[in-house]
Amino acid sequence: MKSKAELRIAIIGGGIGGASAAVALKAKGIRADVYEQASSMKEVGAGIGIRPPSVRCFKEWGLYEALEKVTTQSDHMEIIAGDDHVLIKEAWPVLTDDKTEAYARLVHRADLLETIVSGIPEDQIHLNHRCEKITDHGDYAEVTFENGTTIEADLVIAADGIRSTVRNQVIGHVEPVYSGYLAHRVLIDFDDALGLASKENILRIYVDGDNSFYLLPLEHRNQVSVDITVPGEFAWKPELTKEEILASITGFGPTLQKLVENIAFEDIVTRPLCDLEPINKWSTKSVTLLGDSAHAMLHNQGQGANMAMQDAEVLAKAILEADTIAEALQNYETKRKPITKLYQELSRLFPSDQAETAFPEKAHF
Ligand SMILES: Cc1cc2nc3c(=O)[nH]c(=O)nc-3n(C[C@H](O)[C@H](O)[C@H](O)COP(=O)(O)OP(=O)(O)OC[C@H]3O[C@@H](n4cnc5c(N)ncnc54)[C@H](O)[C@@H]3O)c2cc1C
Repeated sequence: MKSKAELRIAIIGGGIGGASAAVALKAKGIRADVYEQASSMKEVGAGIGIRPPSVRCFKEWGLYEALEKVTTQSDHMEIIAGDDHVLIKEAWPVLTDDKTEAYARLVHRADLLETIVSGIPEDQIHLNHRCEKITDHGDYAEVTFENGTTIEADLVIAADGIRSTVRNQVIGHVEPVYSGYLAHRVLIDFDDALGLASKENILRIYVDGDNSFYLLPLEHRNQVSVDITVPGEFAWKPELTKEEILASITGFGPTLQKLVENIAFEDIVTRPLCDLEPINKWSTKSVTLLGDSAHAMLHNQGQGANMAMQDAEVLAKAILEADTIAEALQNYETKRKPITKLYQELSRLFPSDQAETAFPEKAHF
């Protein structure tokens, strides 16, 4: 392998996974350039929970204090039937070797991405670069962007999401699997949650048969992230009326229904919930997958972004420590495939009023 300083590493996609890969490599003294199709690096959508193994990555990357500023610690999650009948109240699982780390840090995805991006030098970020074509030449790959630019890299990290262009051209086409569920997501002010959101930073999941209703408090924003998951017809951008959304949640209590009635309809973003079957091959000699392009999973265990951030740290460490790219990619895959496969499987379990635990992952750690 070339010296680490000479390595040309290109990351395709500047979402949570791609941005994490750039900062993880930077923390190890290795430069990587990020190519993002959009005109800015920003996230839309929901609040998420950052788990202790990912929080440790931020400590490695020198971004922990910045992370603390945009997150709040949550110690419990609740599963609730109707408006107020708490079925389960459970501490977050310990996923590290430190038993005191039973928590998640709640954050809005936009704040999370902004925090990670703050650790990437500006000259390493290339916006308006949509990867159109990638040619794998064995020891290096050539990437052509829609804007006419072409680059060569010793290693291309495909962090371009569930419908990855890089994966589909180099590794093989993989079709996302539709779960049968749509998610309606919106941010509301804390007071607009009508007393249903927790003031103690508890993630609350209200359940009614196949339908679930997440209220994730974002204390530092004085907001609540709302996610309503219901069965529905597939479309990449489903178009539903407010009446159709309201009709799908009539099994919930009157306060939850009122909460939705009060939401400005144009603020709601509806997306189909899709994942991937586990992929056996993640890498060639000069291309590897990371994050959702490798192992997109449903949101039920709250682990998709966590897995992407942890992929980034493991890959960066493997590149730092290995003598060849091939050895680094082998070590990366060996470490990351078992855990991501487990979470892909567990994430297909939807919250239920019959569940005995809010965290099926606990049985595996
Ligand atoms: C509602 C919701 C709730 C969630 N909750 C949680 C949670 O609680 N915990 C958790 O850990 N995870 C959660 N997730 C999952 C998590 O958000 C994703 O797994 C994570 O964002 C994946 O990051 P990624 O960078 O791999 O992919 P993406 O976020 O999809 O980013 C891909 C990037 O690549 C860019 N791109 C795509 N194609 C190209 C191209 N051809 N050329 C250049 N750029 C390209 C895109 O513009 C994008 O910026 C949730 C997801 C959703 C939707």
